[in-house]
Amino acid sequence: MIPYAPFDVIIIGGSYAGLSAAMSLGRSRRQVLIIDSGLPCNRFTPHSHNFLTQDGKAPAEIAQRAREQVHQYDTVHFVEGTANTVTQVDSFFVVETATGEAFTAKKLILANGIKDNLPDIPGLANAWGKTVIHCPYCHGYEFKDQKTGILAHGDRALHLAGLVYNLSKDLQLFTNGEAEFTAEQRTKLTKAGILVHEERIISISEKEGIIDGITLDTGVFMPLQALYAVIPFTQQGGVADALGCTLTDAGHIKVDFMQKTSVPGVYACGDNSSPMRSVALAVSTGSTAGAMVNMELVTESF
Ligand SMILES: Cc1cc2nc3c(=O)[nH]c(=O)nc-3n(C[C@H](O)[C@H](O)[C@H](O)COP(=O)(O)OP(=O)(O)OC[C@H]3O[C@@H](n4cnc5c(N)ncnc54)[C@H](O)[C@@H]3O)c2cc1C
Repeated sequence: MIPYAPFDVIIIGGSYAGLSAAMSLGRSRRQVLIIDSGLPCNRFTPHSHNFLTQDGKAPAEIAQRAREQVHQYDTVHFVEGTANTVTQVDSFFVVETATGEAFTAKKLILANGIKDNLPDIPGLANAWGKTVIHCPYCHGYEFKDQKTGILAHGDRALHLAGLVYNLSKDLQLFTNGEAEFTAEQRTKLTKAGILVHEERIISISEKEGIIDGITLDTGVFMPLQALYAVIPFTQQGGVADALGCTLTDAGHIKVDFMQKTSVPGVYACGDNSSPMRSVALAVSTGSTAGAMVNMELVTESF
């Protein structure tokens, strides 16, 4: 049963970052409520890589193990659902869920990830997380030496090209519109033998998420086995906005080295506040947020 008295902490989002924060807090005997809608961003990928001890496991398996371990701490409670609104009443935060339940806490941790706004290119969504990928550290090794594309432009494309080039030299860039490269950047790409295609992408050809190429608006079919894509994102729902959290220019919640946001009593961790997107980093920043919230509670009462 869930106690309705004020919790010490409510954590919005119970994936890697939120569960990690909950573990620090549960082990500190804090009364914690995790509200989670069960839709982590990596649910589309069959295997998660680059997290020690869990390399190659299914994302859901890692999360399930984490949930089981956090469940062992009896001051940590779970609610399945979506946190819809957050308001501040005196020194408390009141979180209302989509089903109309309201919960109160002294502190708040936002661990609700980000929303990937996939471009409307036929075939892309089906292949997202399988052969259309976001990160060379997470999936690059599995596609080493394969026919690889990068869908990006500007500085991000150059950044990614440098990283991917060491994994596959069979590399081409697709800007899906006029390229925004400096002369210096173009020289770099030419030197590396990376062709730049500025034509619009009409569709991505795939079967069960496995791509075999993309069609450009000239009608040309470009065979590919993997496509890295830089995807625009937004914060999930309106929670950070409603609280008045300052965002960075890139759109992440601005936090200090203790994961504190610009709003007193509110911390953020995981993808919502970091350009480096990984399970390891979500766990690390979640653990920091949990410990720092605990410290703030200690300072206020001891
Ligand atoms: C396709 C893909 C593949 C990836 N592969 C890898 C990989 O191989 N290795 C790796 O290290 N990283 C990988 N990543 C990155 C990694 O998945 C993320 O960095 C990590 O999931 C971030 O954890 P998080 O807890 O911050 O957010 P998420 O895991 O996205 O979880 C956010 C949680 O908050 C919940 N939520 C959102 N809004 C609300 C709300 N209002 N109320 C209640 N709950 C809410 C969601 O349902 C979700 O459960 C991948 C990412 C993607 C997109």
